[in-house]
Amino acid sequence: MTECDIPRVWYNVIADMTHKPLPLINPGTKQPLKAEDLYPLFAKACADQEMNYTDRFIDIPDEVRDMYRIYRPTPLVRATGLEQALDTPAHIYFKNESVSPVGSHKLNSAIAQAYYCKAEGVTNITTETGAGQWGAALSLAAKHFGLELAVYMVKISYNQKPYRRSIMQTYGAEVIASPSMSTKAGRKVITDRPNYQGSLGTAISEAVELAMQTPNCKYVLGSVLNHVALHQTVIGLEAEKQMEMAGEYPDVVIACFGGGSNFSGLSFPFLRHNLSGEKQTHFIAAEPESCPKLTRGVFQYDFGDEAGYTPLIPMYTLGHDFSPANIHAGGLRYHGGGAIISQLKRDNLVDAVDIPQLESFKAAALFARTEGIIPAPESSHAIAATIREALKAKVEGRAPVILFNLSGHGLIDMSAYDRYFANDLSDYHVSDDEIMALTSKLEKIV
Ligand SMILES: *Cc1c(COP(=O)(O)O)cnc(C)c1O
Repeated sequence: MTECDIPRVWYNVIADMTHKPLPLINPGTKQPLKAEDLYPLFAKACADQEMNYTDRFIDIPDEVRDMYRIYRPTPLVRATGLEQALDTPAHIYFKNESVSPVGSHKLNSAIAQAYYCKAEGVTNITTETGAGQWGAALSLAAKHFGLELAVYMVKISYNQKPYRRSIMQTYGAEVIASPSMSTKAGRKVITDRPNYQGSLGTAISEAVELAMQTPNCKYVLGSVLNHVALHQTVIGLEAEKQMEMAGEYPDVVIACFGGGSNFSGLSFPFLRHNLSGEKQTHFIAAEPESCPKLTRGVFQYDFGDEAGYTPLIPMYTLGHDFSPANIHAGGLRYHGGGAIISQLKRDNLVDAVDIPQLESFKAAALFARTEGIIPAPESSHAIAATIREALKAKVEGRAPVILFNLSGHGLIDMSAYDRYFANDLSDYHVSDDEIMALTSKLEKIV
């Protein structure tokens, strides 16, 4: 709808938070980590960004902006078709991150992280991918900057989503089904649970292990961490300018929530005006009912992965042993909420809702039929939450401005839509007992 420039800086929300996120902790010594402790694993620039609690804005390198130009600025669209179908007085806008060449917002951080690795002389990188969007994004970014990439892909997706695997291979990455026999962590899981179909937690363990054992190799993560959220703020910074051009400011900002990167990316630049007291926007993270860490998890230090290789992260979590149902929104199946969002949630600065799978597909079909874009099953959770807000506004006779993030398109997820139309999908509720059992095992640090 409106043109704007690609931002020259990212926004670091931590600089404006009164209660900073608690530090990452070394699980061995129980001491807070310093940026240097992360240098063996991550690019130095990313480790420094992870621990940067003071600089409000951080320059986007020219090489990164040059690659952003392939698809940025992304469109901001008023969803008039959806508004009409809902007969709501609400104004609904969405930021369309599905226009990136890989079909999702994930490229925003993949480009930045690949660039920093290259600039520091790294030759190889490893990562994990669940549904495949992150792996696809990083494959393209790695090729662009001349890095070799090995992707551990959750086995169930490797088998069920062959096109995502082909996309990564097309961009030149090596893709390995996880759990695999190529790492100690993978071998242990396969031995303990021979038919295990994998999880993001296991895939992270494998990718981290390979990076630690390979010279000149770094590990790259697509969500959860502070520096990933930072890179994604390019979404909200553009949206802020585009909303201004449209003469509006959002009363409600909504995004789906897996590890928090697209939610953070859209919301933090607007949250800045709440933190300064100028605005009172309502921020809603939409997570799946089958993986409800923000709505029903506990705030505790927990590992980012299943094997316990990562630092301990202070966050809302369902426990690192949680194995989420095989819902089709693969990108939302992660057990924890990350440090920044979890702190914001504790301080009641952001809100969360959980959305049943069937409601998300119903919302997706309505959106496709009214706006023309077939949404990713992940993004459909944000659409469902938006529809709830728009209908509530109608009942209450209000006309709020709602902005949500269309984090990706669903054109490679049509098998999930097939199953929805065949009435072959169901909702998955997690019991309180299961959450209690997994979270009560966590060591109490806070
Ligand atoms: C990965 C992914 C998500 C979930 O990840 P976040 O880090 O929570 O943003 C959401 N939507 C799409 C399209 C994705 O690929």
